[in-house]
Amino acid sequence: MSTANVRTRFAPSPTGFLHVGGARTALFNWLYARHHGGTFVLRIEDTDLERSTEESVNAILEGLEWLGLTWDEGPGCGGDYGPYFQSERLDIYQHYVQKLLDEDKAYLCYCTPEELKARREEALAQGRDPKYDRRCANLTAAERQVLEAEGRQPVVRFRSNDVGTTEVNDLIRGQIIFENEMLDDFVIQKSDGMPTYNFAVVIDDHLMKITHVIRGDDHISNTPRQIQVYQALGFPVPEFAHLPMILGNDKTRLSKRHGATAVTEYRDQGFLPKAMVNYLALLGWSYSATDTLFTPEELIEKFSLDRVSRNPAVFDMKKLEWMNGVYLRELDPEELTDLVIPDLQKEGLLPESVDAVTRERVKKIAVSLQSRIRTLGEFIPSSRYFFVDDIEYDPAAVEKFLVRDYVPDMFAMLLEKLMQVEPFTEEKIEQVFLEVQEKVGRKLGDVIQPVRVAVTGTRVSPGMYEVLAALGRPRTLERLKHAAEMAKTKLAQKD
Ligand code: GLU
Repeated sequence: MSTANVRTRFAPSPTGFLHVGGARTALFNWLYARHHGGTFVLRIEDTDLERSTEESVNAILEGLEWLGLTWDEGPGCGGDYGPYFQSERLDIYQHYVQKLLDEDKAYLCYCTPEELKARREEALAQGRDPKYDRRCANLTAAERQVLEAEGRQPVVRFRSNDVGTTEVNDLIRGQIIFENEMLDDFVIQKSDGMPTYNFAVVIDDHLMKITHVIRGDDHISNTPRQIQVYQALGFPVPEFAHLPMILGNDKTRLSKRHGATAVTEYRDQGFLPKAMVNYLALLGWSYSATDTLFTPEELIEKFSLDRVSRNPAVFDMKKLEWMNGVYLRELDPEELTDLVIPDLQKEGLLPESVDAVTRERVKKIAVSLQSRIRTLGEFIPSSRYFFVDDIEYDPAAVEKFLVRDYVPDMFAMLLEKLMQVEPFTEEKIEQVFLEVQEKVGRKLGDVIQPVRVAVTGTRVSPGMYEVLAALGRPRTLERLKHAAEMAKTKLAQKD
């Protein structure tokens, strides 16, 4: 099929957040449309009035916007084939329901849910197929009147073709053949007048001129039903592409148990949208065995459905973190600073308004940690000691590096020199350390590690000279003094 005028859509049901699976579906639709210079449509499938919420619509839009998956038609921007909320299209569905009824391709069914349940159970108990038994398929007008007089509210059922097969030539899975006898006369309109998913989706995809239906493979079994509706209405059938499932690392379907599932939770944990998009693209698609890093532009250029796998994809948090680290390191210092300042403010570690001097200092700190963190969320815990007066000490680190005989004298020496060194820069600080090292006649690590524990409270940090320069002279001196006292006290207790 020609790919001219490609139109794809993402059609979420607004009953929760934008989940990883939904975001991957949206991304593949977006990439396919962008690759072919086509149109990406966003349609909100909100006919389940009880479960759909405006809050959820907003959360989904927010997730898509954060990822940069811009839509050409849909909420907020309109388009030629709206409305884009199914709840605003009820008269359209009604028109096609009536058409199918008029052509006897659908019929009214008066069976109540209780009756259906009882018959299903009975069929199962007797080892028969529990599907709808077509009791209402050929009612006469008189029979209908009787049922209506009982106050029954009918649903509309589609008269499925139950002989032969329905074939789908899936762009990812290849040919799939469904035995029609598996299909039942499914409901297309509920008794409250609302259309069902399998019906509304066909009407909308047709009227919105969708050329490629790209969605999760949990919808495969719906596809023959939908194809029969296309055929009954004389609509051309679009292309279908069913994306492989996403599993957690234990090979079960990805769920809350595996960690965050909402895309915005990843934003809140400090993942970058570019890293997220890159990672989501690899959930089922690959370009080559070795290339894994792609900007959104590169993804658009390289994306094709024939490189989407049929096998389930495994969501690997470690790989996502690694990838995010790669993108974090690529940020320029100003961008990085812009990203960490709001987090520091939220934590109360920076004031509401940040002056130029403070900003420079934050930039220095952020750059010194840039290669050590994998997410922005790791920035606060690994930089807190720069921003607070009282730090916490890791007792094991104190025991191992501070409680050593030579430490109090060495700290006294360092204090004296650091008090005088001018300016208080990395280079000058390094000189001081080298001088002190010579005097104490030890390895450089024996000088640095105790200082690291003294000023950061921990045994890991960026380069010591960098840290001290960013920390500034007053805090450095104060912490060395405090740590020297601590070391003395602990040593005395040992004697
Ligand atoms: N509203 C459906 C869902 O969220 C859409 C499925 C489809 O793309 O056809 O699963």
